[in-house]
Amino acid sequence: MNPIEQAAGLLEGARHAVALTGAGMSTRSGIPDFRSPGSGIWEQVDPLEVASIFAFRRRPETFFDWFRPMARQLLTAQPNPAHLALAQLEAAGLIQAVITQNIDGLHQKAGSRRVLEVHGHLREATCIRCYRMFATELFAQAFLADGGVPHCPDCGNVLKPNVILYGEQLPAVVMWEAQRHTQQCDVMLVAGSSLEVVPVCDLPRLARQRGARLILVNLEPTYMDDQADVTLHADVTDVLPQIAQACGTPLAEHG
Ligand code: ZN
Repeated sequence: MNPIEQAAGLLEGARHAVALTGAGMSTRSGIPDFRSPGSGIWEQVDPLEVASIFAFRRRPETFFDWFRPMARQLLTAQPNPAHLALAQLEAAGLIQAVITQNIDGLHQKAGSRRVLEVHGHLREATCIRCYRMFATELFAQAFLADGGVPHCPDCGNVLKPNVILYGEQLPAVVMWEAQRHTQQCDVMLVAGSSLEVVPVCDLPRLARQRGARLILVNLEPTYMDDQADVTLHADVTDVLPQIAQACGTPLAEHG
């Protein structure tokens, strides 16, 4: 049996399968891996000087100047065949949830319904003073166009996008849900994550310890490769649609 059929067989036989996705998932949607060297994002700046909660509170203009081109990319990106394949597997009842490190919202755009975004997302922003939350779409156009800093309509203080910056806690409820799925799952499909960012990188190990089977799809090797049941060093946009197809859930047309 080839690894694609093997992976499909594991998902079809699973009682509770979950997917765990990382930056590699969205590379083909034109979103660079923000944490990887060479992507250009960190070459000009020290992340702790710009993308930490401390820097944000001190100099929000600097943060937003740096963040603006990235936000433009994130907000206009479209899901790729790998996102669509996971949505298809969920619709077919073969995946119960997607745990993701990505903040691009592309799983939802592809049709995934149960998505646990452990590093936050861009759909909302929170006032740093009164903690009221606002939909990003209320001010996204102006923010992208005019170079200004978004302000709270209520108290006038700065709005912070609901993405997790350095120095911030991960969202507790989302992390708790991710851990619950990790404990319940009997199959975990890791796609497009090099498993280098804590604490998410521990989830496959925890799942494995509880007896879950592991499927790893990533271009680069990961520390869990030798413990996985199926390891595919390949592009997620090639492999995930093939796995979905082998499960008898051919991809619907996108759009
Ligand atoms: Zn406010």
